[in-house]
Parts: sequence; structure tokens; C-alpha cells
Amino acid sequence: MSLSEITARVATAAEQAGRSTDDVSLIAVSKVQPNARVAAVLDEGHRIFGENKVQEAAGKWPAFRELYDGIELHLIGPLQTNKAKQAMQLAQAIHTVDRPKLAQTIARHAQNLGFCPDLFIQVNTGEEPQKAGVLPAEADSFIAEVRALDLPLRGLMCIPPVEEEPSLHFALLAKIAARNDLTGLSMGMSSDFESAIALGATHIRVGSAIFGERVYG
Ligand SMILES: *Cc1c(COP(=O)(O)O)cnc(C)c1O
Repeated sequence: MSLSEITARVATAAEQAGRSTDDVSLIAVSKVQPNARVAAVLDEGHRIFGENKVQEAAGKWPAFRELYDGIELHLIGPLQTNKAKQAMQLAQAIHTVDRPKLAQTIARHAQNLGFCPDLFIQVNTGEEPQKAGVLPAEADSFIAEVRALDLPLRGLMCIPPVEEEPSLHFALLAKIAARNDLTGLSMGMSSDFESAIALGATHIRVGSAIFGERVYG
């Protein structure tokens, strides 16, 4: 598939949901992809990208920023506290705030740096032991904790369990966001972004459908 096909599908899904396409940010997830493929998507005019790992992002995006204006980078992978400062300097948004220690570390760096990326709290909607994110039952109190730190909290993020119907998880995330007056919803990937848009996604994270399969190793 191509960027223009995905953009068209995003527009159709938004229209069918009675929403404006402008309210859905398409994050092109470029992790592991060869630089030539990423450059091709930049050449098509796309500027919003996502990376999983701070180190990979640091090795790739400063050079692209010298060549292309207006890049918006989103970090969507688990974040260690000792990489928080570097993440804040690299990215315009961090989608994976998931524990008090990380929120406190980000708050301390924000004081010193004088800026802070947009933040999303990751919710482990499927309550999977191996997955990051706060449990749904703990989400309200953690949201309050992040707000008390005076951080720019924009919304919530989830990654549904692979074998489950994703829309149930999207609906749960939307419900937690609504009762906490949060408008940002980072949800939906290559296989399910249309249903995420139907349930209110403001940020969809699409990798392989844009770039092709990731080849690890
Ligand atoms: C890799 C990744 C994506 C993109 O997945 P695709 O299935 O390739 O679209 C989205 N979100 C997160 C958190 C990811 O790690």
C-alpha cells in the first residue's frame, strides 16, 4: 500500500464517523524501516512520524530534520527514565507515560529544559502482564497524578491484545478519556485504524501499511 491510499482510507473513515479528517493525525511509524523508504514518505510531503526506541530515533531523525522542515516526531515505545530527557529533546510527543517515576522524571526535566512534549498516558486495556501501561482501574488516579505535576497531558494511548477484538479496547480507552475530560486518543494501527477512527481516535499509528513489512535483524 502507499501513503496516499492510507490517507484516502483515513479520510473515508473520518467521513463515515461524521468527523473531520483534520482531527485525525496519521503517525507514520518508521521504526526499523530503511532510511530510503522513510525519505520517500517525507518526499511525498508527510511530516508526522513515530518511533519506538529513543536510540533509533536519535540515530535517524536529527539528520532528516536538517533536510526537511516541520517534522513532528512521536515516541510510541516503552520509555526508561534514564532516557526521558533525550526523548523530550527529540520528540514532540511521548505516548507511553505509564508510571509515577517516569512522570516525575519528565516533570523535573521540563522544569530545567523549559519545555515539554505533548504527553499521552498508556493504558494496558487488555491487562496483559507483559505489556506496559497503567491498568484501567488505576487510570483515573494516575491521570490526576500527572495533572498535579502540571504536565501537558493530551490524552490516552492503548495497544489492544493481538487476539482480541480491538474495538472493545478502543471503546474502553475512549470511555476513560471522556470521564477525565481528555480529548486525545492514540489508538489504531495498520490492521484496525478505521475502527479506531470510528471510536474517536485522534492519533493513529500506522507502520507496515505505509512502509511495507518490517524486516528485523
Ligand atoms: C510498531 C507499532 C505500531 C505500528 O504497527 P503496524 O502494525 O506496523 O501499523 C503502532 N503502535 C506501536 C506502539 C508500535 O510499536
